[in-house]
Amino acid sequence: MRKILVIEDSPTNMMLAVYVLENAGHQVLQAKDAATGIRFAREAHPDLIFMDIQLPGMDGLEATRQLKASENTRHIPIYVLTAFSMKGDEERIRAAGCDGYLSKPASYKDLLATVEAVGAPAKVRKGSSRPEDHKSHR
Ligand code: MN
Repeated sequence: MRKILVIEDSPTNMMLAVYVLENAGHQVLQAKDAATGIRFAREAHPDLIFMDIQLPGMDGLEATRQLKASENTRHIPIYVLTAFSMKGDEERIRAAGCDGYLSKPASYKDLLATVEAVGAPAKVRKGSSRPEDHKSHR
């Protein structure tokens, strides 16, 4: 189970994302605007953020810049949900600090594949050696 923040103002897109992610067993936090999303990111420390670009007030790229500029939230992977597919959009998205993007409407598979790939909880580091490596050889 991972904690995923979805920042999306379209009720239809939000419903789809929540449906897909919750059915896969994840916890979803929903924000309809960037300011609320930033607050949730700071307070709830999600494992991953799906960010719409066109939002009322502050847009998703500016919200990404702010999250990536803050010590507290810069480690959280941000994947933009975008209907844009024009040349130059990918560069704008990367320049804002986004970790990647999904074309809208995002498919069930795309959403879950992204969660699998980038939303993994921090793994416990293996020790540098196992006990048997320390056995003395005579
Ligand atoms: Mn939107």
